[in-house]
Amino acid sequence: MDNLFRNFFLAFVRLHLLHHAAEEPIYGVAMLEELARHGYSLSPGTLYPILHAMETSGYLISKRQNVGGKVRKYYHISGEGRVALQTLRTQVWELAREVLKEEPPSLFSTNNEKET
Ligand SMILES: [Zn+2]
Repeated sequence: MDNLFRNFFLAFVRLHLLHHAAEEPIYGVAMLEELARHGYSLSPGTLYPILHAMETSGYLISKRQNVGGKVRKYYHISGEGRVALQTLRTQVWELAREVLKEEPPSLFSTNNEKET
């Protein structure tokens, strides 16, 4: 994976994490599985620093919780994270509309009287 592509990939991962943290508290192992389900294979060594950086930036807040004798670090979205997510949603929508086109090609071909 080249550097530019990796930047896109990691931006999608961050957005994903923000989205899931807005729904419920998230933790590393579960997010590795969730991201893998979406086709993103990352190592814990990549994911954990991202979660940590997102907390340092103020988008996530971590809380340690004891789960069956094991301490697990859960990340909750912060108020700032919610504001960022709302902005990103608008931007993703706007971008998707342009990049994926608003209408599928089949809609254009049924509308050929326009071209005459
Ligand atoms: Zn997901």
